Parts: sequence; structure tokens; C-alpha cells
Amino acid sequence: MNKFFNLGGVYSFAFLSTSLFASAENHSSELSKTNVYVQLDSNRTIAHKQLKELQGMDLAGVNFKKNRAEVYATKSDLEHLKNSNLTIIPKEQRQKLSADLSSYLNPTQVREQLSVINQNFSNLTHLSEIGRTHGDLPLMALEISSKPGNLKRPVVLFNGMHHAREVMSAEVLMHMAKVLTEQYGQDAEITEWLNSYRIILVPQVNPDGNTLVHNGKNMWRKNGAKYDGNITGVDLNRNYPGYWNHCNGSSGYPYSEIYRGPSAGSEPETQAMMRLVSQTKPVASISYHSYSEMIMYPFACSNVQNPSKDLFIHVAKYMKSGIRDDYNQLNTYELGTAPELLYDADGGDDDWYWKDEGVISFTIEVNSSSFQPNYNQWRNITVERQEGGWKNLLRQMKKSGFHGFVQTNNADQITYSIEKLLEKKWVAFDADDTVKKFALRSQKGLLYQLTEPGRHQINFYRENDLIKTISVEIEDAQVDLGTIVLD
Ligand SMILES: [Zn+2]
Repeated sequence: MNKFFNLGGVYSFAFLSTSLFASAENHSSELSKTNVYVQLDSNRTIAHKQLKELQGMDLAGVNFKKNRAEVYATKSDLEHLKNSNLTIIPKEQRQKLSADLSSYLNPTQVREQLSVINQNFSNLTHLSEIGRTHGDLPLMALEISSKPGNLKRPVVLFNGMHHAREVMSAEVLMHMAKVLTEQYGQDAEITEWLNSYRIILVPQVNPDGNTLVHNGKNMWRKNGAKYDGNITGVDLNRNYPGYWNHCNGSSGYPYSEIYRGPSAGSEPETQAMMRLVSQTKPVASISYHSYSEMIMYPFACSNVQNPSKDLFIHVAKYMKSGIRDDYNQLNTYELGTAPELLYDADGGDDDWYWKDEGVISFTIEVNSSSFQPNYNQWRNITVERQEGGWKNLLRQMKKSGFHGFVQTNNADQITYSIEKLLEKKWVAFDADDTVKKFALRSQKGLLYQLTEPGRHQINFYRENDLIKTISVEIEDAQVDLGTIVLD
């Protein structure tokens, strides 16, 4: 009884009578799954309709180039699929679930490597514990900057592994840490970034779950939360406030792979990330996941519009242009919201980052065909092919937008909104059509914003009173507004 998943097959639990406990039957059927590939139509519109039929199932990933989706299907999912119009690709064509895990970093190794980087680059890094998991493992954040903690510098945030089995996501982050620290002083661009920003990396948001992955449950997705005395887990990327439980994009059933948790932000890992984001107010962020070769942006509910979508697309296209896929092709990642590309998914981190904290936030799904691709074949290739994506986000920090310092007695009370004048529309609305108001990025009055190019008006408010308006022409570079006196 060591693994929930045999390679490509169904693990059958030996039970007593199924008639004894109906719920026990449900639970065990959740645990015995088989991976199946579902054929997708080559017409993308039809494929998206087909994907919506998979909502609620454990969707491992989508490969639009091969027109297929992989599902870890329970017995009832298989019944549903057989009764649907969807075609299951015959078994002999399926890849086996790979489980080449031994070379991928486990939580202890991630912490050790972060400590080594921190020791080797003590002037360039700050390592901190931002929280603890249910299993009392530390959640570590590595800040990389020539002045860590400097409140006059804008923050860019990267995180990996909300989902335990997505082992490549942490590798992307660890590679990023290595590149940024080792190339400081060597590479002019990286040197400039570290001299200008605070880059914060959280390589493993879910070390409890990843411990289970390394201990035999290689398809474990959720965290280490217990229900009824057993570790059943909460899907951390369905647990954030914002649009928690808003659009049937998660489950209230603790044994579901997309269990949203008992309440919004209930999990210690979620709370740690929320504290970090609220305290550091990043300008932009990427959450790394796998697999599907996609860039997604808010919002992940089809019943919520994102009136600032153009800005997200503007930045996402630039990131996409720097990423190579598993076929070594440049600029091929799919781009869109979760409902555009897959289906509704509520409670994700990027939705909350943007909705509540004004972070230009993205989710990137790396790799095309597996959570745990052969390490020797794929690890280095994958992390190197992602470099162009996160570097383009850092390059975007110097492209269209504005920054400055607000001089005021109480930076806490100041908010600002942005209006794009040429198109007579607000660049940033909240989803309920009220004007989106951003907080300043730090107590030092730091103002830092990415925008599309164009003529913009910035409106400053103290509490709800409009106190100052600035008009600015933004081209393909950050405009320095200098000191803005509000007192
Ligand atoms: Zn994921």
C-alpha cells in the first residue's frame, strides 16, 4: 500500500463491503484513479467547449499541439467520460505516469540550497521564514537585491509549487535564484535589476504536499491539511480570498482535488503568501505551475470581467515572446484567462493579488506533457527556456509605466487611480466597475506602476477625497515623476 497511483493503472484498494459505508466508497474511489487522455478537437473553439466538460475532474494538463488533455479520472469520472461525446484516446497511446522524482529537489534540499545561496551572497540576499505549514515546515522566501528590504525599491514576486506534484515549478525558481545571484556584477542587465528592485522568490509554497510526493504519493496536489483525522489536503490555488467559491471553480468536498478549504484563506500557506504580498506590495508577479505551456491572467471566473485586461495582455505577450516550449519553439505559449483556456477556477492566488493588492499577476504552466518529466532530459532545458519569460517581466519594469515618490504625512491614507485619456476609459477598474484604487507600494511613499503606452491621468486620493491629478504621456519607457508633494 505504498502508492496511490500505479504507472498508468488503477490502484485498487481492498475493501470490506462497499455497502457498509457509502462515504468510504466515495473516498476510496477518489484515491483510485487512472490517467486517461481525452481527444480535443483541432478547432480551438470546440476544444474549449470540450475542456469545460472536464470541469471538476483532476485535469493534469492540456497539450493543444497534440490536441489532448490528460485527466486523472476517478471511477465516476470515467463513467461520465464514457457517457459524454468526448473521445478517450486508446490506452496503448497513453504515456505512462512518470515518477522520476529522486533527482528533483525535496523540501529539505530546497531549504538547504536557499541557505547556501544566502551564505554565499550575504550582501545580495535576505532569507526569511514567512510562515509554517500544517506539518510545521518553514515556508522560505529569498529576497535578492543589492539592498534587501529597501522600501524605496519596487518588489517583483515569483513563487512556485502551490501544487505539490508540480516539481518543475520549484526548479524554475531555484534556477532563477542561481542566475540572479551568480550573474550580479557579470551581466549588466541583471546587475541593473538587482540595483533597482527587490526580487522575492518563494520556491515552494507547499512543502508539506511535496514531502508526500517524495514519499511515494507522486500525484499529490494539495497541502497537508487534515480532515476527519486524515491528511486529505486543501487545494491552495483554490483557497485565496478574492473570488473564493465564486463560480463553481472549486469543490466543497474535502476529498476533491480542487477542495477550496473550509473558508477563504483558511490555510497557513495561503496566509503566509497573503501577508508577504500585503507587506511588500509587489508591482508584478508570476506563479509557476505545470503543465500545459500557458500564461494565464486574472480573472479565472467567467462571471467576472477584468476591465484592465488589455494591460495584462500587453505584459503577457512580452513575456510569451521570451519563452521557448518543449519543442524549442519560441513564442508559442497559450495566452488567456482560465475560462478562456480551460474552465472556471476560483480562489487562485493571482486573482487575489490583482483584486486586493493591485499586483499585475500571472500564472505560467511550464512543460507540455508531464508533472514529473525525466529529470536528466528535461530539468535544465525547461528552466533555461523559462528564463526569457521572467526576464521579460523584469524588463517590463523599465518599459511603459510610471514611478515616483509621494511626499505625505501618512502614506497609508493615499491611493491612486489611473485613467487612459486617449481612449476615454479607465485603465484600471475593479470587476464591479468601480474605479480601481491602488495603495502606494511602501511606507516611503513609493509609487510604481506598469501601464500600456498612451496618455494617462493619475488621480491621487486621501481616503476618498481627490487631492491631486497628474497627466502623463507614457511611451515605451517608465516615466519618472520625481517627488509628488501631497501635503
Ligand atoms: Zn498547479
